[in-house]
Amino acid sequence: MRLSLSALTLAASLSLGAPGAGAQVPASSAADRISADSLRGHLSFLSSDLLEGRGTPSRGLDLAAEYIAAQFRRAGLEAAGDDGYFQTANWQHAQRNAGDFTLTVQAGGKTIAVPHSAATANFVQPVTLGATGVVRMTWQEALAAGPQVDGKVLVVPAAAVPDAADVLRDALKARPALVVLVDTRGQHRNRGEGWLIDPEQVAPAGAAPVVVLHDAAAAAALESAGTTVAATIGVPQLRAAKLRNVIGVLRGADPALKNTYVMLTAHYDHLGIRNGEIHNGANDDGSGTVAVIDIAAALAADKARPRRSIVFMALFGEELGLLGSRYYGRHPVFPLKDTVAHLNLEQIGRTDDSEGAQVGTATLTGFDYSTVPDYLKKAGERSGVRLWKHAANSDRYFARSDNQALADVGVPAHTLAVAFGFPDYHGKDDDWSKLDYDNMARITRMVALGLQDIANDPARPQWTNVPKAAPYREAGRKLMGE
Ligand SMILES: [Zn+2]
Repeated sequence: MRLSLSALTLAASLSLGAPGAGAQVPASSAADRISADSLRGHLSFLSSDLLEGRGTPSRGLDLAAEYIAAQFRRAGLEAAGDDGYFQTANWQHAQRNAGDFTLTVQAGGKTIAVPHSAATANFVQPVTLGATGVVRMTWQEALAAGPQVDGKVLVVPAAAVPDAADVLRDALKARPALVVLVDTRGQHRNRGEGWLIDPEQVAPAGAAPVVVLHDAAAAAALESAGTTVAATIGVPQLRAAKLRNVIGVLRGADPALKNTYVMLTAHYDHLGIRNGEIHNGANDDGSGTVAVIDIAAALAADKARPRRSIVFMALFGEELGLLGSRYYGRHPVFPLKDTVAHLNLEQIGRTDDSEGAQVGTATLTGFDYSTVPDYLKKAGERSGVRLWKHAANSDRYFARSDNQALADVGVPAHTLAVAFGFPDYHGKDDDWSKLDYDNMARITRMVALGLQDIANDPARPQWTNVPKAAPYREAGRKLMGE
C-alpha cells in the first residue's frame, strides 16, 4: 500500500502532535536508506582475509580504519580527529625474544625452568636476579605488605581483576625484587604476540617487575618451603604503534542543541591471526562497524538534520581490553558533559544465539540503568524489533563493553547486541557469509530511528534510580557539576 503525500503529512503531524511523542521521527524516514545489501557489501570487505583479522596493531587494522574513514568522507561527515577522521594514539608495541627470558624455580633439590611461552612479563626494565627466597602471600596481604618482602620474590595468586599485574604493581607499598603472579588458567596471558605500551600509563620508576606465571609445575613448586627463584629477563624490542579511532560528526541543526552530542560506536578491531588462522571477526564486531557506517550515510543523506549533533566512531583495541573507548574517555573530542548519550553496537548480525534463535530482537546492556533504552524500545516498535533484557548478561556485560568508559564518567551509555553468545564467537569461522543481513538491516534501522529520537529530543536521557546504576548516576551528577 502506498500512502498519498497528504496522508503522510497528516500522519506526521498527528504523531508530532501526540503527547510525549514530540521527539519521534516518522517510521518512513532516513532509516529506510539502510539496506541489507549495503551492510553485506561493507562487511565482505572488512572481514575479508586480506585484512587478516584486524588485530591491534596490524596493517589489516590500518586498512580497515582507512576504509571506514573513506565511508565517512563519502557520507559527508565532518572529520573530528587530529589527523582527518583519525584520532591517533601514539603508543609502542613491545616484544621480547624467547632467548631473553629465563626464569627458574628451585625447590626440594629440583630446578624447574619456566619457558617463555608459559609466562607473561610485560615490563621493559631488565631483571638479573640470582637465587632469591620466596615469600607467599594472598592478594590482600601483598597489598598491605611492608619491608619484610623487600628484595624478596613475592608470590601471589592472581586476583580476578582486569590488568591484575598492573593493578598489583601500582598498589604495592613494598619493594620486592620480583613479583610472581600465579595464573595457571592463563587469564592474564597476552593475546597475540607482545604487548602495547601507552606512554601516558607507564610503570612508575622503581616499580617492581611482575611476571605472570602460567606454568602449573612451577606454580606447584612455589608452594613448598625453602623455594628460591632466579631470573634473567632482557629488555624487549620496542616499535612505534599508531592506533586510531575513526571519528566523524553529523552537525545538528538546532542553534543550541547542535553543541550537544549523541555518540554511536562499534569496535573495528578483532583478534588478528591466532595459531596461524585468520580470525575475521565478521559478527564481532564487523557487524557493528558497518552499521555505524550505514547509519551515518543514511542520516547524512537526509535533508532534515537532527537537532543535536551525532558522533560516529569506530574504535580500536576492544579485544585487548576496551583500549580505544578508554582512550577516547581520557581524550574526548567533544565535551563529555555535552555528550547526552552513547550507544555502542556489538554482534548484531548473527541470529543463531547460543541460547536459541534471536530474530527480530535485540538486547541491551544496563537495560534499566538509564532512559536510553526507552528511545530504542519505541524505535523497535516502529521497525519490528523487540528489545529485551537478558536476565544475566544485560547487567554482566555492561562493564565489559565499549560503553563502559563513557558510563564511568557519567554519560548514559549502553551496548546493543542481538546475541551475546554465538557458535563461532572468537573462533576462526566468524565469517561474513553467516550473518542474517535482512534481520541486521532491521536492527540497524531501529538504531538509526532511536538515535534520531535522542538527537531530536530537547530533554537529555537520564540515569535511573536502580541500585546498580548508582555509581554512574553519581558520576553523571559530578559531570554536570551538581
Ligand atoms: Zn566485540
